[in-house]
Amino acid sequence: MSDTTGFSTRAIHAGQQPDPTTGAVVPPIYATSTYAQDGVGGLRNGYEYSRSANPTRTALEECLASLEGGSRGFAFASGLAAEDTLLRTICRPGSHLVIPNDAYGGTFRLFAKVHARWGVQATPVPLTDLAAVEAALRPGETTAIWVETPTNPLLAVADIAALAAIAHDAGALVIVDNTFASPYLQQPLALGADVVMHSTTKYCGGHSDVVGGALVVDDPDLAEKVAFHQNAIGAVAGPFDCWLVLRGLKTLAVRMDRHCDNAERVAAFLSDHAGVSETIYPGLDSHPGRELAARQMRRFGGMVSFRVAAGEQHALDVCARTRVFTLGESLGGVESLIEHPGRMTHASVAGTELEVPADLVRLSVGIEDVEDLLADLGQALD
Ligand SMILES: *Cc1c(COP(=O)(O)O)cnc(C)c1O
Repeated sequence: MSDTTGFSTRAIHAGQQPDPTTGAVVPPIYATSTYAQDGVGGLRNGYEYSRSANPTRTALEECLASLEGGSRGFAFASGLAAEDTLLRTICRPGSHLVIPNDAYGGTFRLFAKVHARWGVQATPVPLTDLAAVEAALRPGETTAIWVETPTNPLLAVADIAALAAIAHDAGALVIVDNTFASPYLQQPLALGADVVMHSTTKYCGGHSDVVGGALVVDDPDLAEKVAFHQNAIGAVAGPFDCWLVLRGLKTLAVRMDRHCDNAERVAAFLSDHAGVSETIYPGLDSHPGRELAARQMRRFGGMVSFRVAAGEQHALDVCARTRVFTLGESLGGVESLIEHPGRMTHASVAGTELEVPADLVRLSVGIEDVEDLLADLGQALD
């Protein structure tokens, strides 16, 4: 499907031609591990074994590549499986990466507790400070800058195009974790990034019913290397999981617009609430990255964080008192979620420089009726 075709048209059709045998409009779940060969080596459309390729996964991978504007997509069993495969594709002992100092906790743990043991070094830096990023780069040694924007849970906005220019000057790649924005709100490859990574568990799947991950690249040589490692390591997404993510992607644009509508209202409500000392949302005038977010994102997203004026205990109480917002980890589903990053998603970074404020609450604003969301937050805060 051509690059000029609209986003939703691609989300619904890219990689998803009606099944040639039956005309089934929706790609079937090819629950098969292996494929009959027409004589030794006589593969039908290249399918040999489902770790290497599966038609349901191919449909998802082609759709993701189209939505991110890359030449090739890869679907994994989780976001972290995608990250691990990518790191093992591009790194070797002695490799160095620059990572956000407020990276997703699981990403930080993968660097600090797993890849560090294999000699991969990571320097945490605030990516909003371009001078600090430049100072942390080791030309010839730094393999990549790992970018997350907006970040989790503090919603800092990093300048993808500026970071790409700095990285490329130093011979490093730029990897963007695009989970929070989704391909509908932000297109990192067009801004100069080399690799886009997703936890498809979140907005891409969108219904809190699947765990998955993805990589999208444009450069054919890098794509070949990722393809080799996807098969060699084997952390692939199964056909049913691929089917769920593919179904989620079809409604990504309409869901994201509603997530954004509701998040804007929630952010405005919290900003005016006396029980809230700070509301963090890239669309607020008070957010230092607002102008940049307006430039590089279509809208400001569905995540809102806030600090509770009365401190940590009250923050925990607010999390326990909501009824429409479900207390739980994860994000990006149709239902609203609330969580306490310090005790939940970011417990693994306690005591490190990635520690988050104890009075911080994170919301994944869902697509319910916004009046119900505002009333729920109001009663929980009062
Ligand atoms: C959830 C998440 C991940 C990890 O993805 P999993 O699917 O849970 O393995 C990575 N980055 C961000 C920003 C996330 O929110």
